[in-house]
Formats: sequence, C-alpha cells, structure tokens
Amino acid sequence: KSTRLLEKQQRIDSSAVSYPEDIPIAFDSGKGATVRDADGNTFIDMFAGIGVLNVGHSNPYVLEAVHEQTDKFVHTVDFPTEARLDLIEKLDEIAPAGLRGNNRVVFGGPTGSDAIEASIKLAKYNTEGTGLVAFRGAYHGATSGAMSLTGNKKFKGDYSPLLPDVVHAPYPNTVEMGKGPQEAVDHCLEEVKAIFEDPYGGLANPAGIFVEPIQGEGGVVTPPKGFLKGLRDIADDNDVPLVFDEIQSGLGRSGKWWASEWYGVTPDVMTSAKALGGTGFPLSATIYHEDLDTWGSGDHAGTYRGHVVGMRAGTRAIEYIQEHDLLAHARDLGQYIRGRLSEVAEDNPRIVDVRGKGLFIGAEFVDAEGNPDGEAADALQQYCFERGVLVWKAGRHGNILRLLPPLVLTHDLAETALDVITDGIEAVTA
Ligand code: PMP
Repeated sequence: KSTRLLEKQQRIDSSAVSYPEDIPIAFDSGKGATVRDADGNTFIDMFAGIGVLNVGHSNPYVLEAVHEQTDKFVHTVDFPTEARLDLIEKLDEIAPAGLRGNNRVVFGGPTGSDAIEASIKLAKYNTEGTGLVAFRGAYHGATSGAMSLTGNKKFKGDYSPLLPDVVHAPYPNTVEMGKGPQEAVDHCLEEVKAIFEDPYGGLANPAGIFVEPIQGEGGVVTPPKGFLKGLRDIADDNDVPLVFDEIQSGLGRSGKWWASEWYGVTPDVMTSAKALGGTGFPLSATIYHEDLDTWGSGDHAGTYRGHVVGMRAGTRAIEYIQEHDLLAHARDLGQYIRGRLSEVAEDNPRIVDVRGKGLFIGAEFVDAEGNPDGEAADALQQYCFERGVLVWKAGRHGNILRLLPPLVLTHDLAETALDVITDGIEAVTA
C-alpha cells in the first residue's frame, strides 16, 4: 500500500516534493513517538516531522483543546481571542530570562520562513539599515528573504538576485574547520567583526545578525562556548539586533525551552515555528524586545498571522511539556542516546563526532579516508527504516545522522531504537 501511495504521489504531486525514496513509507496514523504506515507496520519516530512533534503525534491533551476550539470558531484575523492572549502570556512565561516581561510577539503564518521574513523586516525597520549578517551552513527557510540568509547554495542557487546586502560569516563547526573550540570561535568572531569594521569586506549599513543558536540543517552544529556571547557583543557595539532562529532548536528540543539558554545569551529577536503549533498545527512567531516594538498598526499584515487553532494547540503543548517535566526528560534521554552513540564511535573511526543538546542530536560519518560520507548516512537511514526506526540526516554532505525524536519518547523506545541504530552503524561501516 505504501509503495502504491508513493507511486501515485510521484504521478500526481509536484516534482518538488522531497521524499527519501529509499524509505517508502506512507503514513496512516501516529501516536506519541510511534507511527503506523499504510500497511500496518509500526515505526519508532526519531525525526518527528523534522522537529515539529515535540509533544508527540496527535497528543490527546492538545487535541482536546483543538476540538473545543474548532467547535467554536477557526479563524478571526487579529481580533482579540483568549487563544491568542493565552499563548502570548505562555510564551512570556517561558521566554529566556532577558526577554521575560519585556517582549512582544508578532504571530506569523504557517511556516518558519514567515517568522524569518517578519524578523528581517523588524530589524530593517528599527535600524533603517539594509545589510544582514548570516552564517555559512545556516538554513532559515524557502521564501526570498529567508533564502537570502540561508548559507547553502543548494537551497538558493537558481533564484538570484535575492536580498542584495547579505554577508555570510563562518559558523564555528570545529570538525569541518579542523580547529579547536576556542580557535574556531576566535576565527569566526574575527570574520563577523570584519564585516562590520573592514571597509573592504563590510556592510555599508548593517541591520542585524541572524544566527541559529544550534545549526540544524547545517548538521546539528552546537557552537562552542563564547560564540553567541561574542555575537552579542558585536551586535551591541554596532547597535544592531541579534536575531536567534529557534525554529528548530526551540520549545524544549534542546532540553531547555530555548537553545540560547544553554549559552546564557539573550537575543533581541527570536523566531519560533515547527513545534509552536502544538502537535503539528502550522504556526510561527517572532518574539522581540519591547524596545523594537515600533511598527504602526498594520505595518506587518497578513490574513493568517496567528491561527487560532494553532495558538490553542501551542499553549496546550507548552503546558503539557511543563506538566510532564519534558525538558528534564529530554536532557536525560539525550544524554543516554549520545552515550550509546559515543560508545560505538569510540571503537569506530567512521564516526568522528557525536554532538547535540537534549533531543537535538547529530553523529558525523566519514569514509575510510576520513572524507564526509553521505552514503553511510543514507545506508543507515535505510537500514533503520527496514527495521522500524525512522531517522533523518543533515549537513553539507548529508553525512550527519540527525535525531529529533518527540520529547515524549520513552526510555524503552529509545533503547529499542538505539539497538537498531547502533547495529546499523556497525553494518553500514563494516
Ligand atoms: N529556520 C530553521 C532553523 C529551520 O530549521 C527551518 C526549517 N527546517 C526554517 C527556518 C524554515 O521553516 P519552514 O520550513 O517552516 O518555513
């Protein structure tokens, strides 16, 4: 059945649909951290719709609020609703300390890219600048502004001209750079400083620095300590907002509400989407310091800026994470998973790094010569699929195993999944 549905999709759907052909699964239903395919096979879901389903598939606690809401009404534009105000208050409650009690939220449409566009406009509007600093390896979305910030030609190659005034600095990926943590941080910060200060390479009129506090698509790259703090200082020195894209890393994924909290650095602006709409409803938001709240009414407009069902689901999902202490669970389980992967890596030179925070986890594969090995990650993905475990990949060469399981993943299921993944690593690197 799955194969038939896949064939039909290929026949009638857009050629742009992105689908790993080696893992022919058509979804029938999902529950918590498992999914069933159209043929009745059950899988452990270790990617959760690319980091969306933090409270699991079809979380009943969230859906209860959704049903109550859909029985009442579904769409209102910006008119006040309890759903909207509750989520604004909930987001303030979990905001990073430096933004708590002094932030504003502008809700976006369904995708993270939408929140990125809003934050670009907000930064430009407040600074009257045009130039944006972003990072190599970054992924910020598929709309024109977000593509401009994305640091990967694969996603933007044929669409020039994009925003004209964007400069990409290196992100401290220690493995790729072959540098130690401090050396990598120093090098990257020097480059960012030069963008502001060097008349040869600089931006004439900078408007902001955009960065993922942990790079997701770029390969689950956790920057060494000092990098985000250094960016904070550069942003302050040059009077531009520091914007953290927490679309993939936020809402508990890293074992804290926001990945920035691992580094103790507060942004001026942060974007959220993916897990924001609860158990998979589309919603995005840009959360920013109240000093930047200078837009006039209607200056950033849109029909779906905040969808009432997504907002209800989002508030409930945050409550669910709080009530079940899922941040602590994500930290503990993440440590267990990285431990299991690190054990394999110790004796296997084909894995050169195991990294991440909470349940945002990456493992980097190289071939026998030490070159990035995307084929090994492909083979592992297929091996796991055939044994009932869904995993994802990331990175410039597709050579990073990326795990983004729902935060509700139990220890037992994690153990089963890791048995498959670690056996798979041995099999594909033998
Ligand atoms: N920023 C980051 C860090 C992301 O990971 C993504 C999506 N992978 C986006 C922005 C874009 O979000 P969306 O695909 O919902 O537009």
